[in-house]
Amino acid sequence: MCIFCRIIDGSLGATIRWQNEMWIAIDDIHPKAKTHVLLVSKTHIESLEQAMDQALLESGLSTVQMVARTLGLVEAGYKTVINTGRGAGQIVDHLHIHLLSGNIGNV
Ligand code: AMP
Ligand code: ZN
Repeated sequence: MCIFCRIIDGSLGATIRWQNEMWIAIDDIHPKAKTHVLLVSKTHIESLEQAMDQALLESGLSTVQMVARTLGLVEAGYKTVINTGRGAGQIVDHLHIHLLSGNIGNV
């Protein structure tokens, strides 16, 4: 079972910031910004390239918006990143969206 599936089933600890039916927001263990949250899909899908569930994809951005508002990131601004494939820096093969705010470098 992958790291994120273990967090979702509770066998591996994480700081959970928010969740709904389809997504769970956890703190990244190696933050690259003042706030670095990962929105992880509750079902195991390897990457955006393998994601076929339209409802899941459509809910992804509105979940980013919801979490950013809930965490008070709107005023400071926030950035979202989805790494897809090794060549793009994807390390964990389970769909996730990075949400970064505060002290972020330019992409
Ligand atoms: P990516 O490079 O897009 O696959 O991002 C994977 C992210 O998962 C990295 O930013 C890691 O720091 C983060 N990460 C790895 N293991 C954990 C963990 N156990 N809890 C929280 N974040 C993790
Ligand atoms: Zn998984």
